[in-house]
Amino acid sequence: MHLYLHIPFCRQACHYCDFHFSTNTNAKSEMVKAIAKEIVLRREYLPAQKLETIYFGGGTPSMLDKQELDHLLQTIHDNFEIAENAEITLEANPDDLDSDKLYQLAESGINRLSIGIQSFHQPHLTFLNRIHSATEAENCVRIAQEAGITNISIDLIYAIPSEDHTVLELDIAKALQLNVSHISAYCLTIEPQTAFGSWLKKKKIQPIDEEFAARQFEILTSSLAKNGFEQYEISNFAKNDRYSRHNSSYWQQRPYLGVGPSAHSYNGNSREYNIANNSKYIAALDLNQIPATYEELTTADRTNEYLLTGLRTKWGVNTDELERLSNGKFWIQNERILNDMFQNGLIHTKEKVIVLTQAGKLFADRIASDLFIDED
Ligand code: SF4
Repeated sequence: MHLYLHIPFCRQACHYCDFHFSTNTNAKSEMVKAIAKEIVLRREYLPAQKLETIYFGGGTPSMLDKQELDHLLQTIHDNFEIAENAEITLEANPDDLDSDKLYQLAESGINRLSIGIQSFHQPHLTFLNRIHSATEAENCVRIAQEAGITNISIDLIYAIPSEDHTVLELDIAKALQLNVSHISAYCLTIEPQTAFGSWLKKKKIQPIDEEFAARQFEILTSSLAKNGFEQYEISNFAKNDRYSRHNSSYWQQRPYLGVGPSAHSYNGNSREYNIANNSKYIAALDLNQIPATYEELTTADRTNEYLLTGLRTKWGVNTDELERLSNGKFWIQNERILNDMFQNGLIHTKEKVIVLTQAGKLFADRIASDLFIDED
């Protein structure tokens, strides 16, 4: 069983980000109280099992002070049983991570950090409107390791417009020097509701060059593979099996509870989506109401979500499971398409499992959508 907490505050809006957050932190302590209340109200959402992972995401959860973080963790302890070896991750930005903060996080029980580094190159950080500096990006990992947090993931962004691939190669080299066990690397995408989205519309920036992005993806995957990282999901690389247990649970369709504004929950049959508005979220919780919309999943939803997430992972998708989820429609609809994909070197199959080839990983979402089954 898995718990996600969305902390919807950031110090500054990154130009590419379309997550739910606010830079106005006046309501931070009220928000913490509201999230704690939601934990109590939703303690029965999942079958009574131990929490195997807890994930503080956002937003910027490293903006929580010790008292706020401890209050949320204590509320979780009071309402759920937490597995002894639970993975407890906190997303953090480098500018928040000084030595005192890192010792506090370790003391509170955070045993995994996901640090939003994105790049070690100052002009790229400035272009993305990241608040931290290249020096802070380098230093925070070392300080975290000194504080005893050794399970560290860093985020990188590739396909940032550049003349060549030198900056990406330097970013990868710096990431490798830091001796982290996990790297998440995302292609820069331009979403409409962001600063970049509006600049693109006004032609102040160019769209991302797909060929450039594909070449950067190849450089990234081959450099990380050479250095012992396993690409266990398209954008995620781990050493020594230090996978993100929390994110793997999403990709493997396990039930989870998400609390906080904009958080989603999934119990195997339906999804719930919390309102993405801080003041409305707090007001609803004040009245002991959960401001969520409910969606019952259809046969097609369940099959297609399994395809979309499963195909991105090294575990692939199981054909028996696809037949079960689709009520026998999967093969009837897809036998010829799968054959073509196999002939074109995009997928391979082994013991009823379909996995993407390295070439197929470049087109993961399109391959999944080509296999989607139709609604009845
Ligand atoms: S990328 Fe992270 S730090 Fe930047 S605005 Fe989005 S949530 Fe906040």
